[in-house]
Amino acid sequence: MVDVLTKDQRRLNMSRIRNANTAPELLLRRGLHKRGFRFRLHRKDLPRCPDLTLPKYKSAIFVNGCFWHGHNCPMFRVPATRQEFWTAKIQKNRDRDAFVLSSLGEMGWRTFVLWECAVKGRGRRPLDAVLDKITTWLEGKRARGTLARRPR
Ligand SMILES: [Zn+2]
Repeated sequence: MVDVLTKDQRRLNMSRIRNANTAPELLLRRGLHKRGFRFRLHRKDLPRCPDLTLPKYKSAIFVNGCFWHGHNCPMFRVPATRQEFWTAKIQKNRDRDAFVLSSLGEMGWRTFVLWECAVKGRGRRPLDAVLDKITTWLEGKRARGTLARRPR
């Protein structure tokens, strides 16, 4: 029993640590920077400190880990132990995410969610394709955008 708790606790901490400056986030930052976009990181004065904000486009970009944010994709699976705990936890995160996006929208921010599976794992897309998609969205008018793995 103690082992299980320790394992879960470790996973929880890892998720928190990984929450900022993840590999997908760094890839995205480098790519966008190369394309001439300028942004700020983790603004603490905005709901959920968006990973990137681009004031020129009044846009916020989140890079969401599929496990932590409960993405409906193969990279998310409820752990075998303490399923009730995890199901409730992830659902809470999902609800919070929805609330954060609408709060930002009310504040006049456009929001883009890049899922981890778009840049990692079997369904990942070429980085240039990801950057193209985000560039198009940034330069367009749509209030919300999202990108996940390639459909199978
Ligand atoms: Zn995913």
